[in-house]
Amino acid sequence: MPINPFVKMTATIIKSLFSPSACKMYPVEKPVFYANTRGHIAIQTDKCTLCTLCAKKCPTYAIMVDRNAKLWKIERTKCIMCLNCVYACPKKCLTNENQYSSPVTVKTQEVFNITPPAPAQVAEPCGQKETTT
Ligand code: SF4
Ligand code: SF4
Repeated sequence: MPINPFVKMTATIIKSLFSPSACKMYPVEKPVFYANTRGHIAIQTDKCTLCTLCAKKCPTYAIMVDRNAKLWKIERTKCIMCLNCVYACPKKCLTNENQYSSPVTVKTQEVFNITPPAPAQVAEPCGQKETTT
């Protein structure tokens, strides 16, 4: 015999009244950030080589790389935290930080000055090493 919907609803209401609330009293109760919470993208500016791969892989065009001006920019309101840029970066200088970035009321770009690492020293060809006498 099917349960009367009214009885079912009343049982749900009574159960809810005596259960702890599923809602958090934010901002009094602080949110919990887990290790893999997708918060915001961070960059280690001293490792970036301005290769532009992250910008090419970004589906929302949130990242812009200006090689001439040595700037790396991100528009956080466009970022959907897909982490494509993190996986694409050959230098592993992009990371997912588990804290959310601050809310904004206007669309802005965060701009980072990049100091690319110096190119690796090229080893001298064999047989051409200077010798002292
Ligand atoms: S996480 Fe995704 S959307 Fe955000 S900047 Fe990286 S590639 Fe673009
Ligand atoms: S953050 Fe990584 S992928 Fe993006 S330009 Fe720099 S080195 Fe290249």
